[in-house]
Amino acid sequence: MNTPPDAEARRAVKPVICYPVETLPAPDMDMFGAARATLIKTDEVVVPPREAATFTVPAGHFFRISSIEGPQVGDLNLWNANNLEERFYSGKTRALHGTHITRGHRMWSAFPALRPMATITHDSLEWYGKDEFGGSVHDVIGTRCDPYTHNLLSGGHYHHCCHSNLTRALADHLGIPVAEAEPHVHDVLNVFMCTGFTHDTGQYFMKASPVRPGDYLEFFAEINLLGALSACPGGDCSTAHSSDHAQCYPLLVEILKPDPATLKNWRSVPASGYDRSHGT
Ligand SMILES: [Zn+2]
Repeated sequence: MNTPPDAEARRAVKPVICYPVETLPAPDMDMFGAARATLIKTDEVVVPPREAATFTVPAGHFFRISSIEGPQVGDLNLWNANNLEERFYSGKTRALHGTHITRGHRMWSAFPALRPMATITHDSLEWYGKDEFGGSVHDVIGTRCDPYTHNLLSGGHYHHCCHSNLTRALADHLGIPVAEAEPHVHDVLNVFMCTGFTHDTGQYFMKASPVRPGDYLEFFAEINLLGALSACPGGDCSTAHSSDHAQCYPLLVEILKPDPATLKNWRSVPASGYDRSHGT
């Protein structure tokens, strides 16, 4: 390894933020606060341990994911309920908001729409912040546990990874074979999961989630949503995943309707204004 003489000077260059977010359309958190005070539950789904379930949320409604029986991590997929091609874009959400998202952050959709699908309106784990290891909750870095990586690293055929749970749940919801449903499953929001990158090697790590029964993460649906949530086989993700070893618990998803009068100034953000000619 040849280190150049000005190595320290090159390393000392100050970073700049790739995507300054000052020009993003800002969510009106005061409006959401007023709407939250009027919520009435219209539906609920309990996601069994090591399984996934789907749910739909009309634009202008809220949904809430709660820990109910014990510390449990959830892997969330979101689609435009009217067009499955428009789905959550974990990578761009990470580029805009950072590695972990919380109240006031948004879940952005894939190209060519690139618009807010959901806005986080409450996070009972907001107090956690960042710990001494660089860990935080609700990451958009960890893709989802899947049987392919498991097979690569350990061999075997484990069928209750979040990827497979989400695939089965979507196939059931749409009434299509799993082979047709699988390509719609995408990188997730890791709800309640506590993760980061190690300081020395930059490797993705997980640690026991700080979530406890009663904690919840709440979202406002900016468009009509189809959601799928998997109760990860890793449980609180303190030791292992991709196996039946961890203690797992169900998760609760509630759909909540606000008084429409509180949202009279709210509009769905239109799809991206880029003309899509790509220079041709
Ligand atoms: Zn998982």
